[in-house]
Amino acid sequence: MGGPEIDRLIGLLAKLPGMGPRSARRAALKMLQQPEARMLPLASALAEAARTVKPCGQCGNLDSRDPCSICTDPRRDRAVVCVVESVGDLWALERASVHQGLYHVLGGTLSALSGVGPEDLNVAPLLARIAEGEVTEVILALGATVDGATTAHWLTDRLKPLGATVTRVAQGVPIGGALDVLDDGTLAAALRARRPS
Ligand SMILES: [Zn+2]
Repeated sequence: MGGPEIDRLIGLLAKLPGMGPRSARRAALKMLQQPEARMLPLASALAEAARTVKPCGQCGNLDSRDPCSICTDPRRDRAVVCVVESVGDLWALERASVHQGLYHVLGGTLSALSGVGPEDLNVAPLLARIAEGEVTEVILALGATVDGATTAHWLTDRLKPLGATVTRVAQGVPIGGALDVLDDGTLAAALRARRPS
């Protein structure tokens, strides 16, 4: 349409989640019409984020600081750690403001079908944190999928001997559902109604 630069831009935008060729063309056009106001700020935000944002060495959250802003926040309850599958799930819980403790991001769930074993997940740092003894409760906030349930059982067997109380989020999490698509009220109810794992 307008040279290889525009095609490349649209091609890259179209690969983003929630975008297709049509929305990529619209976004590209909007930016190209206001390069100073829209395009250059976005380009510098992208470059800056790519350069500075990394997984937190303690919890796996994404942040430009390591340990991350949550791990270093003195107002948070360090005795309670909420285990989530992904940073997206952590963001969902933070948006709902229902968890005042710390997090641990597993980076996935165990899956025999996809060949994901314990060594592929961010498990060892979690067990090490719990073994240190500062954490008294671990909340497993994993999706209600078969793999989520398998992972919760597997983690419970390893966390309990370390002395922590292990609970699981309860009602409100739909079967087969992922946490980050739930509305805030449902998430809050699920976290409040957690039960022993
Ligand atoms: Zn952290």
